[in-house]
Amino acid sequence: MSDDEAEPVAHDEIKFVFEDVFGAVDKTIPTLAEVRSSATKFNDAHRYILQRMLVDPCVTMKKFNIMYIDYVATRKLKRHPSVVKYIRANGCELRDLAKTISKTINNAKSLNNDDDDAEHELGMRLVILSEESTPKEWVVLISEVQNSEIISEQSDIIKPERDFFLATIDELFENNGKITRKSAIRSGHEKFKLGLVKSEKFLNRMIKEGYFKSSENQKFIELSPRLVAEMDPYLRAKYSTTIHICDLCRRIISRPIYSAECSKCEKYMHLNCFNNATAISDENGVECQGCNTLLKKEDVLREVQNKLNEA
Ligand SMILES: [Zn+2]
Ligand SMILES: [Zn+2]
Repeated sequence: MSDDEAEPVAHDEIKFVFEDVFGAVDKTIPTLAEVRSSATKFNDAHRYILQRMLVDPCVTMKKFNIMYIDYVATRKLKRHPSVVKYIRANGCELRDLAKTISKTINNAKSLNNDDDDAEHELGMRLVILSEESTPKEWVVLISEVQNSEIISEQSDIIKPERDFFLATIDELFENNGKITRKSAIRSGHEKFKLGLVKSEKFLNRMIKEGYFKSSENQKFIELSPRLVAEMDPYLRAKYSTTIHICDLCRRIISRPIYSAECSKCEKYMHLNCFNNATAISDENGVECQGCNTLLKKEDVLREVQNKLNEA
C-alpha cells in the first residue's frame, strides 16, 4: 500500500538525525490483525482520524485505512514507518477495518476516553458509501445535529450562490446525477444573475470541496458521495416522492442508472451493493427483499448497460 500524498521532504540535516533515530526502531512487519486489535475500543488513534477528518471530511476508504494503519503501526506498535506498506490485507479485510473504525468512532460518547460520564455526544458520524458509478468507496464525516453546513445560515456562501447550488442539485437529481458543466454555468448566470465567471468559480469551489464531482473529461458534473452523505435529510425530504432508497444499505440512490431494480415490486439496490451481495453469497444473483424474486446478475448488468446506452 502507498499513500496518495507525497511525504514532506525533511531538511537534510534533520533527515540525517531522523534516520539515525529510526535505525534502532523495530522493522518487523505487523499483521493486519495486530493493527485491527485496537480498532474496536475508542483511543488516540480514533481521535487522530477524527482530527484529520475535521479538516478533510471526505476521504477515500484507502486513505482512511492508511491514516489508521500508519498511526497504529508507528505510534502504538512502535514500528519503523517503512514497514506500513508491506502489511498484507485483501479488499474484504480492509473494508472490515474501515467499518470497524467508523463504528467505534460513531459509538464513542465523547472525544476524551477517560471521561465516561460526559453528557455530550460527539454530534458527528462517519458514513461509508461508494461512488455509485464506480466501486470506489469513500468515508465521509457528517454532522448529526444539523443539516449540512453548506446550506445553513452560518455558511459563507451568499444567497444567490446557495440558490444556484440547490438548483444544480435539482438538475442533477432529475438527470440521473450527471449534467453538463456548461448547462450548470449557464443556469447560474441566467437564473441567479451570478455572471458566467462567478458561476464557474463557485462551481469549481463546490467541486474542490467535494460536493460535486467533475467527470474525467471535465465536461460533466456529477453528484458526489460527500453531497449525498451530508445532505441526506434534506434530499429525503425534498425528493420524498421520487427518491429511491437502496434495499440493502438503506441509503439514497442518487444515480438510479447504476442500480438493480426488481421489476415486480419496484425495489431498488445500488449496483455496488448488489455486486457485493452476490460476491458474499457466491450466488449468481440476489433475492429481492420485497418479493423474493431472484434478480440474476447477468440480467441486472444487461439492464444497466441498456440504460447507459439510452442515456
Ligand atoms: Zn446500497
Ligand atoms: Zn421484488
